[in-house]
Amino acid sequence: MTLLTIKDISKRYGPVQALDGIDFEVASGSRTAVVGPSGSGKTTLLRLIAGFEAPDRGRVVLDGETLADGSSIVPPHRRGIGIVSQDGALFPHLSVADNIGFGIERGAADRERRIASLIDMVELDRGMLARRPHQLSGGQQQRVALARALARKPRLMLLDEPFSALDTGLRENMRKAVARVLQTAGITAILVTHDQAEALSFADQVAVLRDGRLIQAGTPQSLYRCPRDRETATFLGDAILLAADLGDGFADCALGRVATDGAARGGRGELMLRPEQLQLSACGAETSAACTGRVADVEFGGAVCTVTLALEGGAPLVIKSSSLDLPEVGSTVGITVLGKAHVFEGGPKS
Ligand code: ADP
Ligand code: MG
Repeated sequence: MTLLTIKDISKRYGPVQALDGIDFEVASGSRTAVVGPSGSGKTTLLRLIAGFEAPDRGRVVLDGETLADGSSIVPPHRRGIGIVSQDGALFPHLSVADNIGFGIERGAADRERRIASLIDMVELDRGMLARRPHQLSGGQQQRVALARALARKPRLMLLDEPFSALDTGLRENMRKAVARVLQTAGITAILVTHDQAEALSFADQVAVLRDGRLIQAGTPQSLYRCPRDRETATFLGDAILLAADLGDGFADCALGRVATDGAARGGRGELMLRPEQLQLSACGAETSAACTGRVADVEFGGAVCTVTLALEGGAPLVIKSSSLDLPEVGSTVGITVLGKAHVFEGGPKS
């Protein structure tokens, strides 16, 4: 079932077209990640959904209720939408308990009990309730901000780069904790991030924005495997891009003949492979690999290592390899392509 519908939303700030004809839907109970480079319109989109801004054009519908239709809008506090921003924006002069309880009526009989259950939910110690925000770490402050947003029992939770100020390890823990909390509470969420790994692991649906336009939306797997264009491909992860002669379900490129996911289309084009689709094998006389390459460089990286290969007459190829059986620099290896190469929809680039 669809909870949120964004229909043809546009927003301009002076000369800047921040959003340009955005359409997308968010299913009830799901998690959507909105990704895109800085300035692509991510925050503007969240602010329009939350009601802090009115669109120039287009509609926002939540659970059958029209929240915005052009400039006619329902105000933020009547939308039942929670928001957690990049810096948490806690009230510095209030205790953690009063921050969490901000949206709960002062006189409510169960106020304390609800605050306690909210702090439990975000996995913080109840001993912290008496502290002020400055006595908490960045990660703890973000958890309090999430608890405060949860207190209003929102229909939809908006998270605008809530982990971006945290260290890598903590970030990952927080992301998992937040996903868990939202899942338990059954709350639909939209996470804005410029971190592709975060988006791919957090979301059921990823929406890619660029220059105010929605480039592509779909499951993390479908976007990673079948990005619409090379910018989206490289934004979502490492990509190997190869010029190729396209056939019907196959193509000829520097790696020999490879299977493709493209519809029948002749002519010159470009293929994309993810580095983990290339498998190296020691090159005896009896190699079955379609192609061989010389190992130009090996960079040890722990679990995943990076191997640079020189191909005959082609650009160097950088691939990921397990740390087991790393090839020697200078040796020749067989290269096998796993799965299908992706052909971009748009056709050959001129
Ligand atoms: P993102 O969150 O993806 O980094 P934003 O939505 O914040 O991008 O901004 C999109 C574009 O709109 C940018 O070019 C930004 O400078 C511009 N913009 C955003 N808010 C305003 C504003 N209040 N006034 C003028 N320009 C703005
Ligand atoms: Mg932003």
